[in-house]
Amino acid sequence: MARRRVEGRGGLLADIQTPILTEPLDSLFHITGEIGRGKFAVVKKCVEKATGKEFAAKFVRKRRRGRDCRADVLHELAVLEVARCNPRIVDLHAAYENEHDIVLLLEYAAGGEIFDHCVSDELLSEGQIVRLIRQILEGVNLLHQTNVVHLDLKPQNILLTSLNPLGDIKIVDFGLARRLGSVGELREIVGTPEYVAPEILNYEPITTATDLWSVGVITYMLITGESPFAGEDKQQTFLNVSQVNVDYGKEAFSRMSELAVHFIRELLVKAPEDRPSAADCLRHPWLWQQCLSPELPPLPPVSQRVPRERSGGAKWSSAPGDL
Ligand code: ADP
Ligand code: MG
Repeated sequence: MARRRVEGRGGLLADIQTPILTEPLDSLFHITGEIGRGKFAVVKKCVEKATGKEFAAKFVRKRRRGRDCRADVLHELAVLEVARCNPRIVDLHAAYENEHDIVLLLEYAAGGEIFDHCVSDELLSEGQIVRLIRQILEGVNLLHQTNVVHLDLKPQNILLTSLNPLGDIKIVDFGLARRLGSVGELREIVGTPEYVAPEILNYEPITTATDLWSVGVITYMLITGESPFAGEDKQQTFLNVSQVNVDYGKEAFSRMSELAVHFIRELLVKAPEDRPSAADCLRHPWLWQQCLSPELPPLPPVSQRVPRERSGGAKWSSAPGDL
């Protein structure tokens, strides 16, 4: 029977259904090398002894700076549960607990971070970028339908199922995610300055539009190989973000269709209410150009592709299928 989710303080989820197992992880899994590391977590690849199946084990510390943060880790687990039927979000297989950590046993995304494609000498083609951005938006759209915001979308938290051929995206890292719509507004200073929206830096209310800003940043990075707001120091970065100081004159843009810049410009807008939603973005004509993805169904006639009113509804009505 489905249980009602309980919202804890400040958009944190407190109710979990996954049993938290206490037997030692290494009794069932061969734990191999480290594949990632953050402030409070280490991610290791592991192989299930019984099946040979690969997983990523995220060991998240329960005590941080002398404080018991078990509830925060359980919140990350609860968000992964909420997102369980979202194919663009990493699948949670099981959860373990030892003296120091809660271990989230996750589907292994073998293709690494899309960050690698933002700093590589060989950037992805426009068609490949469009496919990845469409998938990110699909994931974000479904997440937002459950009133959950990720708040830490960046190229390091978007993984790929395989590298060659380039696989599908999987969104990871829900440590900063929050549920909206509980009592009162949500304001928090979270994330990495380079990737976060002006409203976060200004301690203004957070909405789903906050994630859409980050999608704009990710798109810019995949196209140009550069971070649009990164400054010499943190202060410069803050200033660049709050002034929306973006250089659209990069040479890389001349190799893309003009719609790519149009798409990013729509997202990197200071006022959150003026940004399109994820569902709106999925209708943007850049994502539906036949020449970039020949396998797509054809667009409806131009007469049906006029932008809609900004207030309250979708801005582009061109995409095939319902969103
Ligand atoms: P943190 O909260 O410390 O940033 P993440 O969940 O982002 O932790 O994981 C850190 C890194 O570990 C990721 O950026 C990625 O490189 C790697 N990683 C995380 N989850 C997986 C996974 N399911 N498959 C493969 N690599 C992963
Ligand atoms: Mg991360």
